Amino acid sequence: MALDLSTEANARLAELRMEVAMANWMLPKAGLVTMHSGNASGYDVEADLLFIKPSGMDYEAITPENLVAVRVTTGEVLTEGIRPSVDLPHHLFLYRNVEGVRGVIHTHSNHATAFAALNRPVPLVLTAIADEFGAEIPCAPYVDNEGEHIGEAILKYRNRSPAILMGNHGVFAWGSSPKSALKAAIMTEDVAKTVWLASVLGEPKVIPAEEAEKWYDRYHNRYGQ
Ligand SMILES: [Zn+2]
Repeated sequence: MALDLSTEANARLAELRMEVAMANWMLPKAGLVTMHSGNASGYDVEADLLFIKPSGMDYEAITPENLVAVRVTTGEVLTEGIRPSVDLPHHLFLYRNVEGVRGVIHTHSNHATAFAALNRPVPLVLTAIADEFGAEIPCAPYVDNEGEHIGEAILKYRNRSPAILMGNHGVFAWGSSPKSALKAAIMTEDVAKTVWLASVLGEPKVIPAEEAEKWYDRYHNRYGQ
């Protein structure tokens, strides 16, 4: 890959490669994927580069070095001899069209995808959902995987939540880093599982918007170190 970057940029990109590799390694560890059915990427705005999982590669075979590098403005694949994930167009679309996104994850994680099979959002019925997502996790209607159909549906149907269900398909999650996208993907599966269990017991109760706002505000503005 013919890139003339400063030492500082190279150090930053090496760190991003490691973070993307770790996000991909975590997908099977967190129980979000079976076989090769998920992928993670990360984006460096200054270098105009993203790194994404190679297509159909076993997660344990992924290294920071064999991730595929792609020029974000042009979509040009810079790594020779390794094809990027077939979901690259959707990752590119999110980086190009959603402000502040630096990490994207796609999975077919079971409980969340069960909601997607019903074309149903994960309702705002838990404080954990209010904390992380600040709203229900929406579900876009079914679209095929041609061109920008998935990206456009995400843009049209997303709310403030850093994740969305794609009808009859699975989950897209994003964040300000690959790590925060991974957290959104893991939390999506976790809350979908709890809501599914609650639905077996009865009808989950929706948290009023003004109450949800309190949890979201505390979590995003006052929680942690
Ligand atoms: Zn998929």
